[in-house]
Amino acid sequence: MAMIEIEHVTKTFGNKSNEVIALQDVSLSIGAGEFVVFLGPSGCGKSTLLRMLAGLTAPSAGRLAIEGRPIHGRDPAVGMVFQSYTSFPWLTVEDNVGFGLELANVPRATRRETTRAILDRVSLTKFAGAYPSQLSGGMQQRVAISRALAMDPKILLMDEPFGALDAMTRVEMQSFLLDIWSQDRKTVVFVTHDIDEAILLADRIVVFSPHPGRIAEE
Ligand code: ADP
Repeated sequence: MAMIEIEHVTKTFGNKSNEVIALQDVSLSIGAGEFVVFLGPSGCGKSTLLRMLAGLTAPSAGRLAIEGRPIHGRDPAVGMVFQSYTSFPWLTVEDNVGFGLELANVPRATRRETTRAILDRVSLTKFAGAYPSQLSGGMQQRVAISRALAMDPKILLMDEPFGALDAMTRVEMQSFLLDIWSQDRKTVVFVTHDIDEAILLADRIVVFSPHPGRIAEE
């Protein structure tokens, strides 16, 4: 069974007189452990499709499923990382990474063990007690990725996660992500409009075209 099934998905916004077809009749199957990049210019529906996979918005038509389960809202198998730094400024690095675990009522000792192990992996141990504003952009994005990883998701959805970083940091983060992926073999769906980034990271590149958003080629 595929990890992710997208079948004849269409998404429209607005009303009859002012309708935007963000995606039209998109079908795609993604296997466990694949690193898939959605590539295309802005406005071709990449983020909309990712948000549907995250259960943040529903399709207008068609079906999406994870491990055969139709997607209705958040799925515990899914972690998401956005472009903007999404850490809570009033929490320390360690508390940011452990935030999802706390919501899931994981006991403090286990939480601490998990967050410490992840911080070690992403080389942020020294910054466990620091606040996000004290970190560089690349470090803040490592915190956001760590928070997703702490929940041990099978699927990692990433929406232009390195788009706001400078070129050097971006290259560093790309190799960091590939390291994580080769160790854990999570299923990754990564959105970008950067062709070089797609070629560097992906097993499979799905190219989207705009107006309406469709898969142009793989
Ligand atoms: P991409 O990620 O490829 O840049 P998006 O998925 O963000 O593309 O957007 C696809 C199309 O859907 C665009 O024309 C965009 O304006 C429209 N769109 C996306 N979200 C909304 C929304 N919440 N309301 C209205 N239109 C939207």
